[in-house]
Amino acid sequence: MAESPVYSNYINGEWVVAKSGGTFEDWNPSNTDDLIGRFAASGADDVAAAVSAAEAAFEGWRGTSPIARANVLYKASEIIAARVNEIGADLTREEGKTLKEGIGETGRAAQILRYFAGEAQQPTGEHYPSMNSQTLLYTVREPLGVCAMITPWNFPIAIPAWKIAPALAFGNTVVLKPASLTPLCAVRLVEALHEAGIPKGVVNLVTGSASDVGDPLVRDERVVAISFTGSNAVGNELKMIATERGAKVQLEMGGKNPAIVLADADLDHAVGHLVTGAMWSTGQKCTATSRAIVDRRVAEEVTERLVNRVGALVVGDPMRPETQMGPVIDAKAAERIGSDIERGRNDGAEVLVGGGRLSEDGLGKGHFVAPTLFGGVVSDSFLGQEELFGPVLGVIAVDGYEEAIAVANQVRFGLSASIFTRDLGRAMQFAREIQAGIVHVNSETPGAEPQVPFGGYKGSSSYSREQGKAAREFFTQVKTVYIDPPPGES
Ligand code: NAP
Repeated sequence: MAESPVYSNYINGEWVVAKSGGTFEDWNPSNTDDLIGRFAASGADDVAAAVSAAEAAFEGWRGTSPIARANVLYKASEIIAARVNEIGADLTREEGKTLKEGIGETGRAAQILRYFAGEAQQPTGEHYPSMNSQTLLYTVREPLGVCAMITPWNFPIAIPAWKIAPALAFGNTVVLKPASLTPLCAVRLVEALHEAGIPKGVVNLVTGSASDVGDPLVRDERVVAISFTGSNAVGNELKMIATERGAKVQLEMGGKNPAIVLADADLDHAVGHLVTGAMWSTGQKCTATSRAIVDRRVAEEVTERLVNRVGALVVGDPMRPETQMGPVIDAKAAERIGSDIERGRNDGAEVLVGGGRLSEDGLGKGHFVAPTLFGGVVSDSFLGQEELFGPVLGVIAVDGYEEAIAVANQVRFGLSASIFTRDLGRAMQFAREIQAGIVHVNSETPGAEPQVPFGGYKGSSSYSREQGKAAREFFTQVKTVYIDPPPGES
């Protein structure tokens, strides 16, 4: 058997092993015999070296012309675009989403880098009138310094790209700590930046565990800003630590995303979107649809169609073109989702499709969970309230729009939400009344484009937004400049 490759940290422009020399393993969730590689099991001293490199590189990078920064981002986007199939296949092997989705996400990472190459070239401030007609009064946005990115496994190249690209575009330097379950995609992104000519120290990658890498990174006084995507428990803990020492913090966390189906909706269209919204990427999207809130007058018909569509999904090896749904990320996730399904059942909801692990037909070597549909879900139950982060959709029947919107808003999350209706007035009312950062009308809850802000209301976020123009808000600070002519001159 071929030796599995060993991957290093990227610090100060070089690929270097962890100071301890240790490594950890990265396994394919579809086939637990497939070892993808070994990665640097780093510690606090590796983090300190990466932060020192980023700190030393900051003055040079902030002084670089934004046009030069844009050129590096653009070149990196071209490199990723040229390798989209290869990196997409790495992503599928490492994360388990289908090959089409793996390639799609990699293409998205290239698109994000390209977008922020453009953003780097936009105006950096505004000119204002002054009370003194001779005064030149303007604002300019300046970078923050060393920024840390802590990212999850479910979008292992797109999320690091949408944090790193704006940070770099606006002149910051970066230390990335990717999820330990998907370090290869982070390596691929950093390789592209390296080949694109990013100056040494501007981007640094440190792999390793939450406690050995994440914690010292969050506590390092030289890290002035932290952009985190992941679970609520971790995000809220990091925020306490980082804000206590005065760092700027951005959190993007969980969701419990509703899709309302009103009685006048095109039911076939709505059901198609409920299924893809809930099950694509094995339901492991923060924006996945997990609650189908359906008008009672059409609930039976919608449920019947859902049973047919969910039951017909092809689950299997995500590399195969016919596969529609791959495994969940690891054994722990499969066990957790299994026990959450059991809890839903014990609470009185009815499993209509799926409801457990899949191990037949060659699936026994992966972490496969059946696409699962629950009927009779009650809004204030565990299934109605908590993020399962897996291929599980619950149907909640309601009496009309007023109850639907009350149920939709009755959770602590507020990331994304949909409504299916032909009534434009209702759709507009929903857009006003729903407590969510992203609203879709007649389309599924996932789906986000890089040129617009992304983030949630309530417990899904920390009031800041990523992507689009919103990224500039987080990764820069404003300086206001008053310039008066010297006395005697005008
Ligand atoms: P997670 O367990 O919170 O981990 C996220 C990242 O934080 C990983 O890199 C993890 O490292 C690191 N980490 C964990 N504990 C830490 C600590 N004490 N100090 C510093 N770093 C720490 O989340 P996940 O399981 O990877 O991702 C799933 C969650 O992300 C779901 O709740 C999902 O909804 C959410 N998500 C949200 C969005 C959004 O934009 N709103 C997008 C995608 C995912 P290790 O990997 O080494 O443990």
